[in-house]
Amino acid sequence: MSSPQSPLRLVFTDLDGSLLDHQTYSYLDALPQLHALERLGIPLIPATSKTRVEIEFLRAELGNVHPFIVENGAAVFVPCGYFASQPDGMVERDGYWVRELAPGRDRWLDLLQMLYQEFPDEFDHFHRSGIDGIVRMTGLSRARAAEANRREYSEPVQWLGTPERRAQFLARLQDAGATVLEGGRFLSVAGDSDKGRALTWLREIYCHYRATEACHDLAVGDSRNDCAMLEAAETALVIRSPVHDPPALRRQEGVILSRDFGPAGWAEGVARWLAGQHSQTTQ
Ligand SMILES: [Mg+2]
Repeated sequence: MSSPQSPLRLVFTDLDGSLLDHQTYSYLDALPQLHALERLGIPLIPATSKTRVEIEFLRAELGNVHPFIVENGAAVFVPCGYFASQPDGMVERDGYWVRELAPGRDRWLDLLQMLYQEFPDEFDHFHRSGIDGIVRMTGLSRARAAEANRREYSEPVQWLGTPERRAQFLARLQDAGATVLEGGRFLSVAGDSDKGRALTWLREIYCHYRATEACHDLAVGDSRNDCAMLEAAETALVIRSPVHDPPALRRQEGVILSRDFGPAGWAEGVARWLAGQHSQTTQ
């Protein structure tokens, strides 16, 4: 963390399509700014739909030691010892302090099991189909499929039936308390959480331990599931995507829209934010 005298600054970032290239998953174009954040002692906090295991691989590669937000805001993971004491509301698990903001995956597996009676052979999902099934559904390698299956808070479902029955299926899930995010290939069945609430919660924890109320935070994202986070931070950096329009935000102030796509846009936007931060502190 940065020294006690410097203002608290945080960067919360989406991964796919933001820090990572949409096609290649490379972050090479962002490296200069990743190094700049490290030099300035500004924590880089991944906030993603990815699972804990998937983020752990990337953190290890980047040498990132900071907290992270998993599965679209379902939980916040803080390495044990990161703050001076264990924050209220967190439980210790596997070397982390964990704050859960949504029910666990078992709840959704039980619900899907129940719905299987009503919608037999009309849907498949990761847990039911196993590694071979995930490879078939996604085209991932076996190792990557195994990682993707180590989910803790959500379940990807592939709909196989008609559009009419799909609408009934969605209604049944929602009636049972599930939030369903409709992705390109899968329905993600999960609890009612978002990256914005996770950001807000973690920012308060940082402020508490730094004994400050002032936090200059930047949220970076490229998609609709980033909107809550982009609205919640002091500054929003919207990364252009080669495959879809930038997500629409309610706010108009404090928004940076990248010119480039993916990690190149990430680097350009973070540089603009840092330049603004610098001019603020030298005024
Ligand atoms: Mg994204």
